[in-house]
Amino acid sequence: MSKYWSEITKNIEPYVCGEQPKDKKYIKLNTNENPYPPSPKVIEAIKNAANEDLRLYPDPNCDELRETIAKYYKLDKKQVFIGNGSDEVLAFSFLTFFNQDEDIIFPDISYSFYPVYAKLYKLDYRLAKLKEDFSINVEDFLCENGGVIIPNPNAPTGRTLDIEAIKRILEYNSNKVVIIDEAYVDFGGESVVKLIKDYSNLLVVQTLSKSRSLAGIRIGFALGQEELIDGLNRIKNSMNSYTVDRIAAKAAVAAIEDETYFKECASKIVNTRERVVEGLKKIGFEVIPSKANFIFASHPEINGEKLFLILRENGLLVRYFNKPRINNYLRITIGSEEEMGIFLEKLKMIVAEIISKDK
Ligand SMILES: *Cc1c(COP(=O)(O)O)cnc(C)c1O
Repeated sequence: MSKYWSEITKNIEPYVCGEQPKDKKYIKLNTNENPYPPSPKVIEAIKNAANEDLRLYPDPNCDELRETIAKYYKLDKKQVFIGNGSDEVLAFSFLTFFNQDEDIIFPDISYSFYPVYAKLYKLDYRLAKLKEDFSINVEDFLCENGGVIIPNPNAPTGRTLDIEAIKRILEYNSNKVVIIDEAYVDFGGESVVKLIKDYSNLLVVQTLSKSRSLAGIRIGFALGQEELIDGLNRIKNSMNSYTVDRIAAKAAVAAIEDETYFKECASKIVNTRERVVEGLKKIGFEVIPSKANFIFASHPEINGEKLFLILRENGLLVRYFNKPRINNYLRITIGSEEEMGIFLEKLKMIVAEIISKDK
């Protein structure tokens, strides 16, 4: 604590990311990164973009990238907003669409950045308590509120909300913005981008960090009707007009254009996920059904935190949240086929050892 800090700085509780350890080599399954490299065309585009033009500011409107994304999703360029990772897009969205004296609503078990943004902007919020099986109770969102945000698939549970439920939420809240955070939608979920034409209050947020293997370049985007996108631009241009650099914008264009490569990687991950779910169930884990590139699992006979620490000692890094209702769960990112083979082998031995010791 410093006397120089503003009241906001003193009171904020910053988000804590999953660690990026440097002490030894881990099988890193803790931050939902893609185990496969970005498309070779992306690497090529980055090399080509490393040129003398870097002395110039980038295009503040990211026109080329917006056109590429608009074409991919059959939208108009005016319905696309680009940001420095979807975390930035989300941060701008909270400021653009939510008011201080009206509660916004999001699930109690959800992306832990949402409460951080809410507190940063002094927004009140209500938590919609997920059911015991971690599914969303739609009724919780059919009430007076200042706006809604839901990740679909949800993080860290991996569960999806069906499109009819999202429609009900959009219809009930027609005067408020409903943000659907589709960070993981490419691993088997159903996108609501197709609803944009019918719902002026729908904002869909996506990222290149997960399904397109580009967590390292920081590109996220929002899709919605023009009036929502105009609002986002007002906020962005009141903070920093150049949030996306020349190299990242070129890389992102190449990533979106190489659809074949992206689909191949996503489908490999989905296949591996299904195999890992089966493997975990065989050794006694309870696994929440996932449509994401991670799974959320707990073992009825083993303490989650203890297991997390033992895995870590054994070079297997997963994510553990010491929070009510989920403190016996591990969130396991789906790595490559090979990594997950090693993971399951080692986990099997660790589980057998813990259980035999406890008996
Ligand atoms: C990873 C993640 C994001 C942020 O991704 P960026 O890397 O900032 O684009 C946003 N929402 C959810 C639910 C996520 O898991």
